[in-house]
Amino acid sequence: AKTSSPDHCVLFSAALEQGPRERQRLLLALHQALEREEFTLVLQPKVALADRSYAGAEVLVRWSSPQLGDVPPDLFVPVAEDAGLIQGIGDWVLGEATRGLGNGDIAGDTRRRMAINVSAAQLQNERFLDRFRSRLDQAGVTGEVIEVEVTESALLASTAVAAERLEALRQLGVTITLDDFGTGYSSFSHLKHLPIDALKIAPEFIADIDGDAAAARLLAAMVAMARSLELRVVAEGVETGEQARFLTGLGCTEGQGYLFGRPMAPPDFARWLRDHDV
Ligand code: C2E
Ligand code: CA
Ligand code: CA
Repeated sequence: AKTSSPDHCVLFSAALEQGPRERQRLLLALHQALEREEFTLVLQPKVALADRSYAGAEVLVRWSSPQLGDVPPDLFVPVAEDAGLIQGIGDWVLGEATRGLGNGDIAGDTRRRMAINVSAAQLQNERFLDRFRSRLDQAGVTGEVIEVEVTESALLASTAVAAERLEALRQLGVTITLDDFGTGYSSFSHLKHLPIDALKIAPEFIADIDGDAAAARLLAAMVAMARSLELRVVAEGVETGEQARFLTGLGCTEGQGYLFGRPMAPPDFARWLRDHDV
C-alpha cells in the first residue's frame, strides 16, 4: 500500500484488517468524503517510447481521510464500487479533471489526451452518458481531450450495454483504452468486436522481462496481437531503461511508469511538462 506517512499506514491497516466493523468505518468515512472534499487528483504522464516526448496523462484519484489517513485507490475504489458510491466519485473525478483542463488549473497540451478511469459500475449506470456530456459542457471542453480507460471486466459484465455506451462516447470524440490488458479473459475474437482504440498492457507483464525469456516472449506476443488488431499499445509500470528499450523494439508505441514520471499533483505536473518542453 502506498501511504504518505507511517502513522497513516498504521491507522489505515487497522481500518481494513479488523473486519466488518472497521469496513463499516471505511464506508462511513467514504460517504462523507465527497461532501467534505477529501479527494484530490494526481496526473501521471505517458510518453512516446521512440523519443520520450509527452503523449498524454492519466488522472488518478487520491483520498486523504482525516480519520483514516491516506487511503490508496486500490483499496477504496472496490469498496466504493460495492457500496454504489463509485458513480459519485467518478463524476467528481470527471468534473474536476474537465474543469481543470478548461480553466488551466491542470496544465496540458490540448493535442494530447487526459485519461480517466471508468469502472464497470459507472458504465452500467443509466445516467452515465448524460453526466459525462454535461461535465464536458460545463467545463467548455470537447471529448477530444479525453480518453477513457475501462477494464476487461467492465466490458464483460454486460457487453452489449457497455459497447453501446463506449460507442456513444466515441461519438463525442473520446477515445477508449482497454486497461489492465492481459489480466482478464478477453479472447482475440472478443477484442475484435469491442469499440476500443488502444490496449494498455498491465504492469505484471512488464515487470519480469529483464532476464526472463518466457515473460519476454509473452509480452512480445501481446504487443503483436494488439498491433494486428491495429490498436495503439501502451505499456504500464515501466520502471527500467531496459524495459523501455525492449518495448520500443517490439513496436509498443507508448509507455507510462516511474521511469518517465510518477503520479503528480497539478503544479508538479505543470513543472514536469515545462521540463519536457511541452
Ligand atoms: P490503474 O488504472 O491500473 O492505474 C495505474 C496504477 O499504477 C496507479 O496506481 C499508478 O500510480 C501505478 N503506477 C504507475 N506507474 C508505476 C510504476 O512504474 N510502477 C508501479 N509499481 N506502479 C505504477 P494508483 O494511483 O494507486 O491507482 C490504483 C488503481 O485504482 C488504478 O489502477 C485504478 O484501477 C484505480 N483508480 C485510480 N483512480 C481512479 C479513478 O479516478 N476512478 C476509478 N474508477 N478508479 C481509479
Ligand atoms: Ca488506468
Ligand atoms: Ca492499469
